[in-house]
Amino acid sequence: MRRRLTDASLMRTAAYIDGSWVGDGESGTLIVDDPATGEVLAELPAISRRQTAAAIEAAHKAFSGWRALSGTERAAILRRWFDLVNEHAADLATLIVLEEGKPFAEAVGEVRYAASFLEWYAEEAKRVRGDVMAAPERTRRIVVLKEPVGVVAAITPWNFPAAMITRKAGPALAAGCTMVLKPAEQTPLTALALAELAERAGIPAGVFNVVVGDPREIGPELTGSPLVRKVTFTGSTEVGRLLLAQSAATVKNASMELGGNAPFLVFDDAELDAAVEGLVATKYRNTGQACISANRAYVQDGVYEEFARRLAERVGRLVVGDGFDEGVQQGPLIDTDAMTKVETHVADAVQKGATVLLGGTRHPRGGNYYSPTVLGDVTARMTITREETFGPVIPLVRFTDESEAVRMANDTEFGLAAYLYARDAERIWRVSAALEAGMVGVNTGLISNEVAPFGGVKQSGLGREGSVYGIEEFLELKYLAWENA
Ligand code: ADP
Repeated sequence: MRRRLTDASLMRTAAYIDGSWVGDGESGTLIVDDPATGEVLAELPAISRRQTAAAIEAAHKAFSGWRALSGTERAAILRRWFDLVNEHAADLATLIVLEEGKPFAEAVGEVRYAASFLEWYAEEAKRVRGDVMAAPERTRRIVVLKEPVGVVAAITPWNFPAAMITRKAGPALAAGCTMVLKPAEQTPLTALALAELAERAGIPAGVFNVVVGDPREIGPELTGSPLVRKVTFTGSTEVGRLLLAQSAATVKNASMELGGNAPFLVFDDAELDAAVEGLVATKYRNTGQACISANRAYVQDGVYEEFARRLAERVGRLVVGDGFDEGVQQGPLIDTDAMTKVETHVADAVQKGATVLLGGTRHPRGGNYYSPTVLGDVTARMTITREETFGPVIPLVRFTDESEAVRMANDTEFGLAAYLYARDAERIWRVSAALEAGMVGVNTGLISNEVAPFGGVKQSGLGREGSVYGIEEFLELKYLAWENA
């Protein structure tokens, strides 16, 4: 392993069920490797469907005790978890770099972002409130209570191995729910380290469980068990659809953070250098492997040439390398499938007439490294504008008028993030309103934080995470029709 942890006990190689570390997997083993070197980092037990059912049972058993605590009591425990995550930020970041590959500085940023959800929802745990309404009858009161949904199954992706967990566990536990988490098979080590810290923070046995292994073994139990009342998922639209279909049999509540195909619009009146920086920030974070990464840039005629020139120059200065090396800004892709997808998208674009302004090939470092790439003269016929590339490639599409840009931006089944750079306030309002997206970055490429509601429209998802709205996803309304005795 390229770097050791300061606190070696954060390297957990067992699942965490009902407060115990389970080292025996009934479905064999799960191998975790390092995307930068291909080296095996750990062998974990692959949890069976039966063991998943036991984890659900544990979460079900723990639910009555956890929900009975006051919001203030749960807040104190979540706050300790937040403190521990921050205290161990360097070790958590090390695990993220090892199993996911992003540059260390970005990994530390992710840990801080992950921790922010624990702090925010520790605070929100104290603020759950219902309502009292004037009834149509004189003799009645209408009382609306908010109650935790119940046992939550969480399924998370590899690209943000810490933050996608706390963005779900923070509000779920704050609301009084218990959870069984299945992290991505590529990045279970960060999840297990978070479980270790949850245990140290005093989260009771059964409240937060982590099962690791094959999604096809674990998934059907999470979606099929009648004890699970909610599924919260971040990942591809394809898997999201499957989980929704599987959850229909037991009518589960569901929150879905699915794929994106974010457009990035640059108008003639934009501040060009700021637009270049914004595009680089949204695209090259995590090597383009984020669902809110700009996937296609639309640039207006008047500034197209100059924008393309400045962008290629700026992207050409990005430092590619091992996430642990000083100053590195772009790491490897997660695996060879990711590489194949990027190569296929670029080849399709070039074959249909795109010009390579920068990169366009694998990086000389070899392995899973791809060169930062900018393509010009891209059109809507190319796959790269229709599917999420999830890699370090920016396709530039030229447009003439605003309505054409908006039409192209909305011409997708996805609706997660969108970005626009312009200075005219009327235009900003008009375009922001017309974009079919859950989130719009106006003159910024960085939109995520714990205070803002994260989520998509169309086939990018259901529900919102983070913000004051995020906890509502884990609360049910109960209405008391209260007749005077
Ligand atoms: P990505 O393209 O980011 O890998 P996926 O949607 O494939 O996105 O994966 C996101 C999460 O969904 C991971 O935890 C993965 O294990 C899980 N997953 C994939 N397929 C299934 C499935 N059939 N049932 C349940 N979970 C699944």
